Amino acid sequence: MTVNELINKIFFVDIIKGLALTLSRLFTKPVTRRYPKEKRPAALGFRGLHALVRNPATGKAKCVGCGLCAAICPSRCISIYTSEGPEHEKVVDRYEIEVLRCVFCGLCVEACPYGAVVLTPHYEYSDYSRDPFYMTKDKLLKNWDNYMGDDGLDYFDRYWNPRSEYFKGHKGQAVFKKD
Ligand code: SF4
Ligand code: SF4
Repeated sequence: MTVNELINKIFFVDIIKGLALTLSRLFTKPVTRRYPKEKRPAALGFRGLHALVRNPATGKAKCVGCGLCAAICPSRCISIYTSEGPEHEKVVDRYEIEVLRCVFCGLCVEACPYGAVVLTPHYEYSDYSRDPFYMTKDKLLKNWDNYMGDDGLDYFDRYWNPRSEYFKGHKGQAVFKKD
């Protein structure tokens, strides 16, 4: 043990320093939040609970059942069941996500050519059984209504199709500009 360490031990220097720090913070504004009363808004692009986008014109899901999201999903947690409609169109009979297997990578959102699946800002969905985490098409559309709605289109515009004015480049940094 060095002389300095010995002096620190005898005179409780570290304890006094710690107490001084505590005292100096006693009357300052707290930085902690009283969750769940106080909540921090989720950042744009937050990867929360899944939703299927509802087409505002038709009121139905935008998904066309191409299966790209299921193909790219690394957790294999998306299942899509389709059939042929009366006009020989593809009908999405079932679209299901096992949320407990999802790793929230966002690849399904990125792969979808129609902007038909999203990860919403909603993150408070703990439960006591597995069933609520098995998302059916109806549940996923309800998630869109509850957690995205009108803001959802802004989400696609700003987060997945950003324009140059949304970028704040550093001085001298090249910034992609879309005309
Ligand atoms: S976020 Fe990733 S893991 Fe989750 S469903 Fe989409 S692709 Fe699959
Ligand atoms: S959500 Fe998108 S990628 Fe997935 S099946 Fe529907 S249209 Fe295709």
